[in-house]
Amino acid sequence: MIIDGKKVSKIMRDEIRNEIEELKGKGFVPGLAVVIVGENPASQSYVRSKQKTCDALGIYSEKYELPVDTTEEELLDLVDGLNNNSKIHGILVQLPLPKHMDENKVIERINPKKDVDGFHPISVGNLSIGFDGMKPCTPYGVIKLLEHYDIPVEGKHAVVLGRSNIVGKPVSMMLLQKNATVTVCHSRTQDLEAILKSADIIVVAIGRPGFLTKEMVKEGAVVIDVGINRVDGKIVGDVKYDEVFPLASYITPVPGGVGPMTITMLMYNTLKACREHYFDAK
Ligand code: NDP
Repeated sequence: MIIDGKKVSKIMRDEIRNEIEELKGKGFVPGLAVVIVGENPASQSYVRSKQKTCDALGIYSEKYELPVDTTEEELLDLVDGLNNNSKIHGILVQLPLPKHMDENKVIERINPKKDVDGFHPISVGNLSIGFDGMKPCTPYGVIKLLEHYDIPVEGKHAVVLGRSNIVGKPVSMMLLQKNATVTVCHSRTQDLEAILKSADIIVVAIGRPGFLTKEMVKEGAVVIDVGINRVDGKIVGDVKYDEVFPLASYITPVPGGVGPMTITMLMYNTLKACREHYFDAK
């Protein structure tokens, strides 16, 4: 069965829009600030889609486009200002930042309550000990897809291929929280094929087009492809979709699988941050 990320995303966006309308009725408007430094075309396109989605869902948004020669101090000052701006509940600094800036320092400066990307060490810590906090959007989107399709996770062997801070590690923590038995694999893993073949759930996030082949997948496995790779002008995933599809019980296509969930979860996190600011935190 194909996991339809566009469909799930639309359902979630409708729910988010309705909740925002309700909040607005009480006089509260969620606000997101998106900061981009330099002119990376991919980043500019992500930022445009984020703002468009904010508009569509009724989230107030502010966009800050800073020149590439902005100093780290200037960026940190902007983050400080946004931390203290009562109209803004979520702050997203689009990565990567130019080389002369320390990304970790900038992320750490964001108030963890406004850390809608879920990359702040406090958010990472909350996730790892199972406290409620901001969860990173792409891995959270993977979990929402599994939940939407009622795919059992508890007790299953989940193999995560990739250990990045933005996808592999957090999705592993989330699967562990859902009581999966999790194996995390990476470029130094030995006997990768045998480990993958024993998986009930495979999450692939490595950025290698068509890496996961049918030889690595057990019949009936759930296959989640996070990869986004541009090959000959087309977007393809990390899974050789055509040959893995007949084996998998559930599989995400690329595009149209995990991809659409990322921005949806950003909106979800912004709404959560706003709600907590006005209600839950009091
Ligand atoms: P990174 O480059 O940060 O990490 C890649 C990971 O894959 C590393 O842990 C690396 O291992 C591992 N890896 C690379 N090659 C191999 C290999 N041959 N065998 C086993 N492991 C390997 O990537 P990201 O996590 O940022 O992104 C992964 C993919 O997901 C990309 O295609 C990216 O575009 C996509 N992505 C999609 C998003 C979405 O919205 N759908 C959002 C974010 C990312 P090691 O640590 O040992 O180097």
